[in-house]
Amino acid sequence: MKEAYRKRILVTGGAGFLGSHLCERLVAQGHDVLCVDNFYTGTKDNIAHLFDSPNFELMRHDVTFPLYVEVDEIYNLACPASPIHYQHDPVQTTKTSVHGAINMLGLAKRVHAKIFQASTSEVYGDAHVHPQQEAYWGNVNPIGPRSCYDEGKRCAETLFMDYRRQHGLSIKIARIFNTYGPRMHPSDGRVISNFMMQALSGQPITVYGEGMQTRSFCYVDDMVEAFIRLMNTPDEFTGPMNLGNPHELTMLDVARRIIESTGSSSEIVFKPLPMDDPWHRQPDIALARDKLGWSPTTALDEGLRRTAQHFRQVIEASETREAQRV
Ligand code: NAD
Ligand code: UDP
Repeated sequence: MKEAYRKRILVTGGAGFLGSHLCERLVAQGHDVLCVDNFYTGTKDNIAHLFDSPNFELMRHDVTFPLYVEVDEIYNLACPASPIHYQHDPVQTTKTSVHGAINMLGLAKRVHAKIFQASTSEVYGDAHVHPQQEAYWGNVNPIGPRSCYDEGKRCAETLFMDYRRQHGLSIKIARIFNTYGPRMHPSDGRVISNFMMQALSGQPITVYGEGMQTRSFCYVDDMVEAFIRLMNTPDEFTGPMNLGNPHELTMLDVARRIIESTGSSSEIVFKPLPMDDPWHRQPDIALARDKLGWSPTTALDEGLRRTAQHFRQVIEASETREAQRV
């Protein structure tokens, strides 16, 4: 790669699910990638295959503390994303979103770097508008169990826009809808990882409520492609921009598709619906189609097949470790 195109890129949360795929893609493009993570939900295993690349560097650091490095671009992904993880230490979740955003924006300001924020469809809360468009302001409970995440991310968006208005920073805000794929944490409680692990180990599939709530799932490779395209849009374009797959499914559909694609004999059982669980969610991606020329290309069955392959390896590795212990 010509030096002029080779950028120094910081990925916070780079050892997590999305971050590790992003680091991998940026390293493959020949950029110098600095992965920063405190390993709260991410692991070294997710990025171990990059350690031999001379253009990859790993730093253990918590983004709630200031960071002094020299970079051209920042992808700010650090934040636990699954409900059980972000609700485990809700104060830390808000701190990571808000203090983390302030620290990363401060860094971007000092070194004149372009900065990308991994925001979320959760800013729409239990949406009254369907599908969700960027112009919708949302319906979020400010005091419930999901608020640490939803309001933390909303406040981070506010900070990004204010750094743009007040300091002229080049910012990009992505509102990410449910994304799945290899390297999701096997016990993060998210629906795809839960159902996969249950289906592959013959456990009952736990559908919450009556399973009629909906989500729309995007395969990780499609999402990472959109991140990079959004980062490369002209400076005037800030977002927020919805990124996701508009293909909407009920959780009961998801359970059936996973049972079918894994050839599992697991039965479906119904459990109580968690508080404030959004009723339905589907991104309107007209803006992404227009500005990025992007839309997801991986069909659900193909994405589930690749994801199942990953979870089979996770289960095998854990069985081997168990066998070695006895
Ligand atoms: P993840 O939990 O796998 O990754 C988050 C990473 O951030 C982990 O490696 C974790 O250790 C790290 N981290 C957490 N707190 C930190 C801190 N204080 N300092 C440094 N590192 C810290 O989650 P993910 O699914 O990869 O999500 C990545 C980002 O994308 C998050 O910001 C999340 O809110 C956002 N997002 C993800 C989805 C999705 O479906 N995966 C949807 C919407 C938004
Ligand atoms: N869900 C479910 N069974 C599970 C895990 C999740 O039915 O074992 C449901 C959950 O109630 C929600 C949907 O699946 O309606 C998506 O949950 P997830 O935690 O993956 O993401 P989010 O709610 O943040 O979109």
